[in-house]
Amino acid sequence: MTKLKFQRPTGMPDILPADQIYFEKVLRLAENIGDFYGFRKIDTPLLEETALYEKGTGLTTDIVQKQMFSLRTRGGDNLTLRPEFTPGIIRAYLEHGLNAWPQPVKLYAWGPVFRYEHPQAGRYRQFHQFNAEVIGTSNSVTDVQIIQLFFNILNDLKLKKLVIEVNSIGDSACRPYYKKLLISYLKSRALGLCVDCRRRLRENPLRVLDCKEAKCQEIVSGAPQIIDHLCDGCRRHFKEVLEILDELELPYRLSPYLVRGLDYYTKTVFEIKSEEEAENKRTDALAAGGRYDGLVKLLGGPDTGAVGGALGVERVIALLKAKKRKEFQPTYPPIFLVQLGFLARKRALKLLEEFRKNKIPVSECLEKDSLKAQLKLADKQGVRYTLILGQKEVLDKTIIIRDMKAGSQETVKLDKIIKEMQKRLKKL
Ligand code: AMP
Repeated sequence: MTKLKFQRPTGMPDILPADQIYFEKVLRLAENIGDFYGFRKIDTPLLEETALYEKGTGLTTDIVQKQMFSLRTRGGDNLTLRPEFTPGIIRAYLEHGLNAWPQPVKLYAWGPVFRYEHPQAGRYRQFHQFNAEVIGTSNSVTDVQIIQLFFNILNDLKLKKLVIEVNSIGDSACRPYYKKLLISYLKSRALGLCVDCRRRLRENPLRVLDCKEAKCQEIVSGAPQIIDHLCDGCRRHFKEVLEILDELELPYRLSPYLVRGLDYYTKTVFEIKSEEEAENKRTDALAAGGRYDGLVKLLGGPDTGAVGGALGVERVIALLKAKKRKEFQPTYPPIFLVQLGFLARKRALKLLEEFRKNKIPVSECLEKDSLKAQLKLADKQGVRYTLILGQKEVLDKTIIIRDMKAGSQETVKLDKIIKEMQKRLKKL
């Protein structure tokens, strides 16, 4: 085959029809659960000012340093394709005065996210997130409600062996002291760290904790743990989070070196994984998030507590697909309309309109001529009834109903077919 002239950009998948059912089901379920917890939907533009991410997501993050798709408009504005939802949502919260609404404000959003990554299984340059934020509260119960929301989406999708990894990374009162301890520990072992981590050690030492390199992980396994150095407020908050998780009997595990890649997190951070996935050597988080009490203020608003998270839709779908579950297979209408000859074909199109107006789903293949080919298709779709309209039937104003299950066949008046099918479908 000759090489195609145009191909999709690296790491940016097409979502073909067979995959749409997965996206629809995951997103509908996520929205239903969000609605139940009192979240409301928000959409923000795919493009935001680049400076919003530099300031919000943070200059020392991988996202800002190497993953943004940025452009300059003809008018000279510097914009970036959304690499994560939170800064845009906080921008909208402030821009529209949502801080004057009764607090907290609970918002969810979903859509594509863009990061310039090395594409591999479960890691794309364009992927989708379902995102949820609760803005305007510092209460620990909200941290758990966010965790519960994402856990329940995954659990209701019947994903197995779910585990919540949770940690507290403190706040501006206690993290600086911990950072010092960590830096002095890491500095004495700097030669054993990877090149990236030696840079991180200078710029953002906490990020060394979630490096995936084996040699760094070994050094990290002996590092001081932040939960031993939390201030009273952060310790109390974290204790409450864990107590509420216990109360809900959610399967969580303390993960003392979990820090997450973003600068704005404070106190609680979490990741939800499927251990089933771990058995297959993949341990990527399906959903993740945390509290970010400083971000609203950083972006120009009042001092406001907030917590949020995001679910990676493609990663969830990859797990669902591996299971080949029935509810994600395409479904077909119970009726197939076969037409034979030009006269019948014309009449079939009109008949289809009557079915549509009566909200009775019917499939067809008007382009095919032969009875055999159309019956084969009807059979493949597993339909219960095939309606056959030939030249003779059109002239007689009749139509044949073939019951595919019973193997029986009956001719009825064409003007009675809607009522007849309504009656039959009711009995299914
Ligand atoms: P983050 O916004 O980095 O906290 O990621 C939240 C979730 O998005 C992760 O738990 C993943 O499920 C998903 N995710 C992050 N990066 C990617 C990517 N490059 N490709 C696919 N999914 C991703």
